[in-house]
Amino acid sequence: MNEEFDFDTLAIRTGIHRSAFNEHSEALYLTSSYVFKNAQQAADRFGNREPGNIYSRFTNPTVTAFQERLAALEGGEACIATASGMSAILSTVMGLLKAGDHIVASRSVFGSTVQLLVNIMGRFGIETTFVPLSDIAAWKNAIRPNTRMFFVETPANPTMELVDIAALSVVARTAAVTLVVDNCFCTPALQRPLALGADLVIHSATKYLDGQGRVLGGAIVGSRQLLMDGGIYQFLRTAGPTLSAFNAWVCLKGLETLKLRMEAQSKNAQALAEWLERHPAVARVYYPGLPSHPQYELACRQQSRGGAIVTFDVVGGQAEAWRIIDATEVISITGNLGDTKSTITHPATTTHGRISQAERQAAGIGPGMIRISVGLESVHALQSDLARGLG
Ligand SMILES: *Cc1c(COP(=O)(O)O)cnc(C)c1O
Repeated sequence: MNEEFDFDTLAIRTGIHRSAFNEHSEALYLTSSYVFKNAQQAADRFGNREPGNIYSRFTNPTVTAFQERLAALEGGEACIATASGMSAILSTVMGLLKAGDHIVASRSVFGSTVQLLVNIMGRFGIETTFVPLSDIAAWKNAIRPNTRMFFVETPANPTMELVDIAALSVVARTAAVTLVVDNCFCTPALQRPLALGADLVIHSATKYLDGQGRVLGGAIVGSRQLLMDGGIYQFLRTAGPTLSAFNAWVCLKGLETLKLRMEAQSKNAQALAEWLERHPAVARVYYPGLPSHPQYELACRQQSRGGAIVTFDVVGGQAEAWRIIDATEVISITGNLGDTKSTITHPATTTHGRISQAERQAAGIGPGMIRISVGLESVHALQSDLARGLG
């Protein structure tokens, strides 16, 4: 890590370009296009001879501010913001790959990512092989002459399994494969994959970057060469899954409190995980901040905290899990995560309900599993809320 890297200050001060009004807080530029001084300037802008805004599908000052700030926090040269996390993944694949190329992805990636890679990219001649997340040898063995990309989430949803990003990046580099890390669960406040050797970082800004469950957004961070020259920006400005100025403004302001929120929510999650682990009605807790986590040593090395997602298995099956979920009065029963409000889900019948029983089993998702995205309520309130069902 660069000694001069000052996350706290970068989160507050990067990406500020004041207008003629000299506003203190970052302005929200709700405009679809920009006025040129004359025909010559219009021609120069369109002809790429003069930098500047043309149309908000290409660039927008509020979106640019968000991109600059997130790039700084991830330690990347550049960032491209997108309409959602899924459009960040779509733009990365469409921008960098072509028919005949091959992707290796971890078996435990986000449900829509699996659908995108298998059912949509598969129709365009891009094939994906899925491997167990933490098994570095399996990644190596899955490489073919046409493999162009590794795609991974760490920690994975909902099992909190990790992969050693630095070790995987060595495998990727040796095979000239682009390593893409979805950093949604940790955010740059807890983990910075680019510094560990990843080529690109993906975000669903919908989660912790907004942080209060208001808007959809996404982003890709990495080298200027991959993002700008490699085809991703070209895809985005042509196809149009661009982040709206309003959503960019919400996420830009969200970045200012990101580290405070991640630290406070992780602290809550740690306390809740420790409490759950001691509870007799809980069979197992999955949380990278617990010494019982099978990759605890890696978690301590790779992340500065355990994060704010806690998963656990209750003694019994689906009926017990549903009963505990239904007994909550504070925690919201909703699929979203990363909010200051705690949320609770039953992965086997919601986020992972569409995959087969065998696939669920392979992914380690049982009928008694519950996932909590821990927010900023008091730990005491969360414990009481869960104790009602746990007994
Ligand atoms: C939510 C999520 C996505 C998709 O993001 P959207 O903003 O919902 O499109 C991708 N990856 C992970 C890990 C997520 O949690």
